[in-house]
Amino acid sequence: MKIAIIGGGPVGLWTASQIKIRRPEADVTVYEKHPLYQRVHPLVLSHSSLSGIPEDKRIQAVVQGFKALKPRGFFWKSSTISTKKIESDLEALATNVGVKILKSHPIDDCSSLDADVIIGADGSHSLVRKQIFDETKATRKQLHRIVEVKYLVSGHTDLIGKTIDPASSFIDERVAAQDDEGNTPVSLRFFVTKKEYEVMQNATFRNPYTLEQLPPSLQKKVFQRLDHRAKKFHETRVLGSEKVTAIPLETYSSNSFVKRIADKIYCLVGDAAFGVPFFRSLNNGLLCGTELASRISYGLESAEKLDASLYYYNLYTHARSKWEILAATIKGLFIQIAEWFVYLIKLPFELLSPQSIQRPVLAY
Ligand SMILES: Cc1cc2nc3c(=O)[nH]c(=O)nc-3n(C[C@H](O)[C@H](O)[C@H](O)COP(=O)(O)OP(=O)(O)OC[C@H]3O[C@@H](n4cnc5c(N)ncnc54)[C@H](O)[C@@H]3O)c2cc1C
Repeated sequence: MKIAIIGGGPVGLWTASQIKIRRPEADVTVYEKHPLYQRVHPLVLSHSSLSGIPEDKRIQAVVQGFKALKPRGFFWKSSTISTKKIESDLEALATNVGVKILKSHPIDDCSSLDADVIIGADGSHSLVRKQIFDETKATRKQLHRIVEVKYLVSGHTDLIGKTIDPASSFIDERVAAQDDEGNTPVSLRFFVTKKEYEVMQNATFRNPYTLEQLPPSLQKKVFQRLDHRAKKFHETRVLGSEKVTAIPLETYSSNSFVKRIADKIYCLVGDAAFGVPFFRSLNNGLLCGTELASRISYGLESAEKLDASLYYYNLYTHARSKWEILAATIKGLFIQIAEWFVYLIKLPFELLSPQSIQRPVLAY
């Protein structure tokens, strides 16, 4: 059987490796359009999202490596890892188990691929979803908006450890492990109002803003937090490493995740299948990738068996997307309530001392 995976992101590589480990005789090829992975940010991985993998030393070693990086939490353990680390470890694993990876190989027409199973692991703007699945039936809902400030710290730094700061509203903070150059990637996500977001919406992943381009109200929140971090951890930012982007937090889901057309079967996984905010998407992608790899490996003998097996993958992904979208909607509601709460606490202080709303002086 020939299996083609479009997209060499973490979910594509993770799924491909597990199929090859479970079925070494299968011909598994990953097609990736870029020579190098494009995402650069820290990710929080729940250790439970790495469960259900085969009893194989090569993949177990990679998973143990992820779990050992900056572990946190007691009941729900997680690690903060950079995209660079996840991608390089998963690429090495895929190569090691015998997956063919064709880089700089964009696919324009997924039905032209010579394969029995075609997996769309090609991210949120998935070509496979557009060409094979009915996009008009996909669901999409905007929950919130964030402005993300990413920068590198020379040497070690840490988490402040509280997310509601009365001075700066609601902030989500990520600190990954030190990279090979000895720098630590930090990412601060500020939940912003619709008005603040609209001013910032041209600050995209490809065209990030500098700190100086932030609107004054937001600049105040950002510099307060940067000052706080600088004082607490004696942080020195790597000059020019700051990047500011505006990100809409939305949920979306394809209306189906498996479709047979003649002798080819198409599946969606990772961001191509569904997406949720609040930093759960990769976790979901890995869980669905594990389920998909196990269902494909089970059904490889015949088309009938594969269809029956993938029917359960479709059910599994439907259930997971519905649950995660519900959980994200509830979280969005809590954030809204928390923001109102912080606003009401801050209001009397701001009315009494107008100087408190001036931008603080940077400590470095
Ligand atoms: C700022 C930020 C922070 C995040 N933090 C978290 C977090 O803490 N926890 C979490 O779980 N998730 C988080 N996420 C989400 C997470 O990054 C994504 O869910 C994850 O990267 C999805 O992986 P993927 O492999 O499905 O897709 P992608 O990483 O998007 O990879 C898709 C790949 O497909 C390739 N591709 C696309 N089209 C084609 C084509 N036509 N032909 C060939 N190749 C193609 C692309 O080049 C890309 O390499 C975050 C996202 C952002 C933006």
